[in-house]
Amino acid sequence: MNEQSFEYTLQDATGATCTANAWAKVPAPLTAESREALRQRAKALLQARNAVLVAHYYVDGDLQDLALETGGIVADSLEMARFGRDHAAQTLVVAGVRFMGESAKILSPHKTVLMPDLDATCSLDLGCPPDDFARFCDEHPDRQVVVYANTSAAVKARADWMVTSSCALGIVEHLKAQGQKLIWAPDRHLGRYIQEQTGADMLLWHGACIVHDEFKATELELLKEQYPDAQVLVHPESPAGVVALADVVGSTSQMLQAVVHGTAQRYIVATDNLIMHRMRQLAPGKVLIEAPTAGNSATCKSCAHCPWMAMNALQGVVDCLEHQQGEIHVEAATGSQAVRCIQRMLDFVAAHPGVLAPRVQGMVRGVGAA
Ligand code: SF4
Repeated sequence: MNEQSFEYTLQDATGATCTANAWAKVPAPLTAESREALRQRAKALLQARNAVLVAHYYVDGDLQDLALETGGIVADSLEMARFGRDHAAQTLVVAGVRFMGESAKILSPHKTVLMPDLDATCSLDLGCPPDDFARFCDEHPDRQVVVYANTSAAVKARADWMVTSSCALGIVEHLKAQGQKLIWAPDRHLGRYIQEQTGADMLLWHGACIVHDEFKATELELLKEQYPDAQVLVHPESPAGVVALADVVGSTSQMLQAVVHGTAQRYIVATDNLIMHRMRQLAPGKVLIEAPTAGNSATCKSCAHCPWMAMNALQGVVDCLEHQQGEIHVEAATGSQAVRCIQRMLDFVAAHPGVLAPRVQGMVRGVGAA
């Protein structure tokens, strides 16, 4: 297994930022025979261990298919956590990145939560260290603390609210109407978008997703000229220039819905390209085109696929079930603090179904996250 290095933005308690490095493992390719053998072994283990596979849209297509074939789910991060919480299985295998496993554990503290690779992380999570974040919040005691789902359990424990990309507008509008000033962390692009849409007073943390940050506006404009009939779907973790070119701005599940229910035949998709696996299954007649990550000043390190999502592999599913390894633990005090901001969001969405209206100000709403 090879390792690859990635740069991400790290902020400290003073607001200063620097570039830091993180690594991701690149799984070895499988032969057709070993792939099928692992699929069958994973299926048998899921059944034998009374476990359910909960997979994100960005993980390998084999894992997505395995989840659906064995009674699990392929979904966004919040739906993954809710599914895991409500499912009868006492063992959850979460194929995604670490904060997703932590959210599942926080919502289901009495269940065993396993992950194929505990080193699968997220640049937003890495870029928001809990101690620095807590000190930053302490410096601004007059502000409500709103954090995105893509954060550690410890950061959530310091927050008043957790939001996802689709309910963020409604929750921030609600807080603004109450006269609240906010701290927003960690994604600066999503924070700026919400700030523009709501006019709320938001102090933004300076993190970014290394995948969405790479989409290029100039090249996207050229692609639009080439395919003028195509609808452009953009995740709001993308830079402002890319969001400005979108026909639909929304979370992963909302982009999926836009393809399934949209009348256009062609879609340019600005999010992790593994979402297309599920889009192709649910909308087989539609033409899907990746939004460009190459072009002027491009680094194209991730090239529209999250290197940490890519660490989830069939072998990891087999290993975690066979050897009971890769278990997620969240310290009880942290978990009981963190669950409050998650539950507050769930309660708000349940009490204000209007925030889930299909479209407001160009953003498709619905409960979902990166
Ligand atoms: S795609 Fe971006 S936001 Fe999602 S897990 Fe990877 S780095 Fe984090």
